[in-house]
Amino acid sequence: MPVLATGGAGYVGSSAVRCLLAKGYDVFAYDSLIKGHRQSLPAERLIIGELADKNRLVQVMRDRKIDAVMHFAAFISVGESTERPLEYYHNNIVNSLTLLEAMQEADVKKIVFSSTAAVYAPITEGALQEDSPKNPDSPYAFSKYAIERLIADFSRAYGLGYTILRYFNACGASPDGRYGEDHDPETHLIPLVLRVPLGQRKKIGIFGRDYPTPDGTCIRDYIHVDDLADAHRRALEAMPSGRGSIYNIGTGTGHSVLEVIRTAEEVTGQKIACEDLPRRNGDTTRLVAGSEKLRKELGWAPTYQNLHDIIESAWRWHRNHPDGYGKN
Ligand code: UDP
Repeated sequence: MPVLATGGAGYVGSSAVRCLLAKGYDVFAYDSLIKGHRQSLPAERLIIGELADKNRLVQVMRDRKIDAVMHFAAFISVGESTERPLEYYHNNIVNSLTLLEAMQEADVKKIVFSSTAAVYAPITEGALQEDSPKNPDSPYAFSKYAIERLIADFSRAYGLGYTILRYFNACGASPDGRYGEDHDPETHLIPLVLRVPLGQRKKIGIFGRDYPTPDGTCIRDYIHVDDLADAHRRALEAMPSGRGSIYNIGTGTGHSVLEVIRTAEEVTGQKIACEDLPRRNGDTTRLVAGSEKLRKELGWAPTYQNLHDIIESAWRWHRNHPDGYGKN
């Protein structure tokens, strides 16, 4: 089953491409390299191209006889999206529509789409289920929710088969320390925390200590990127034709910002200096996945069950690659 992964040279996309390659799939990354990294996958598996280029997409899908698309390519930062909604709506929504049009022209009938836990309305306890109330209140979240809707409408009208995966907090690195997280600018908690023991920054800022949680800091469900990748493979293999499903991907366990910092201290054996900062725009108290549906229907279970192992994998990567992948 030949597969095309848009954004396949990115953090999650490249993990999925490597996972599919290891399982013998004929998979290609389609990536502009604006955010992605050439070094994150074998050169012969990378097609450099723009998501906005419909004719190129159609050509690639026809030439490679693509059977399914995994759509990772997107801008991903909640905070940035509130400052640059035009770019977010354009890159995420308009270009996704172009991709769907290209798939239609090339007669590709299956898609796995990377959505987000940010589509849900806030909660202060328990876990989010796929049918929990929604409130996609940042341009980023709204763009992802809109694409979910586009895909569902295309499915009803044109018989597209789809799986929407709502990610919680992707993190961690490959166990051999070769592939990991490298965003520019980096905004995610775990890589930023690890910059302190790496000597790249003096302290980590904590965005808000007054949330209604036991220690006052936000709670997130940290899910290893390779476990996300495995869910994509399963979604592809189980995809119904002409219909769709939606799944949360998370471990089901939440950790506070302070717990992440303490665990990073354990992993690195170093004290990590902290500073209290005001709340960050767009942050929500608690994001924890109810992932029973994914476990039951796709037989998925996370390999990385605890935060210590996840941060240990990230530490291995950052120690080996203090400047990330380096120049593309
Ligand atoms: N966070 C923080 N300091 C930082 C970066 C993040 O306190 O320098 C907090 C952030 O407010 C959130 C959690 O860490 O509660 C996870 O943030 P991240 O950006 O990694 O992921 P998000 O949940 O926003 O997708």
